[in-house]
Amino acid sequence: MKWKTHRTITKFACKKLNWPEEYIEPLLEACVEPDRNREKELTQNEYGETYYARVPHHSKNPDEIDDSRVIKHIWDARVSFLRGNNLHFIKSLGYALHYIQDGTVSKYKKILFFEHESLKVHDEREDDLRFIPFPSKHKIIEKCARTIIKTPQKLEASIQKLSPKKDPKDIMLFASAYTLLTLNAVSNRNSFPDTYKKSYLYYGQRHGKFLLYSLLISLFISLFLIYFFSPLYIVLPLIIVCIIHKLDSKYHEFAKIAKWYGKEISILNFLF
Ligand SMILES: [Zn+2]
Repeated sequence: MKWKTHRTITKFACKKLNWPEEYIEPLLEACVEPDRNREKELTQNEYGETYYARVPHHSKNPDEIDDSRVIKHIWDARVSFLRGNNLHFIKSLGYALHYIQDGTVSKYKKILFFEHESLKVHDEREDDLRFIPFPSKHKIIEKCARTIIKTPQKLEASIQKLSPKKDPKDIMLFASAYTLLTLNAVSNRNSFPDTYKKSYLYYGQRHGKFLLYSLLISLFISLFLIYFFSPLYIVLPLIIVCIIHKLDSKYHEFAKIAKWYGKEISILNFLF
């Protein structure tokens, strides 16, 4: 996507949400930064050789965007926002918005039943965006401006639903709608909702009991095993506790929400 389009969409969203003026200018720079400083990732070619390659901004898959990179930057932005680290917050948010906005542009063209990658078609779509009237009065835009997604799971699920678009009108609409949703969710100062807080404490205490009891039971068993077989069995309780910790999905679900609100507490608090 052209820098001008990135900036137009981001500026519109900031103004719509009444963002403080001092954040808007830096964010307009940050949202084009990924084109200046391209991120690199470790990758492997068909011969098994590893090397650092530039991260693609447009999805290789015609039906979905690379949501893992977007979600990583959203988390970085959220954690920095909660810590009051504005510099890192703006930078990470800029990267997240850039990948979301680029992700809405499909580089595929359907010929008969098959999708074909075409740089020319991609460039034409990005050029056409200059002539698309901004969808500022569209009802989806109004709805997204009013929506504050309360949990990281819901935000991640909605980003996973985003797919690259072919019609420039759709590109503009979805890029703007998702920019609004992301800005609203990442920069909200709402307190940890009570229902989630109660569930977090409940499942946290339950998790603590699971860990403690499984540790005691497996220690007891391994004492026998060590006596009769091998001292290697000393690691058995640790393995069992790790497995129980990983498997308790309810605890992780609410711990993730607590982290989103900056209210995650050490697991040691749930042990005793
Ligand atoms: Zn880009």
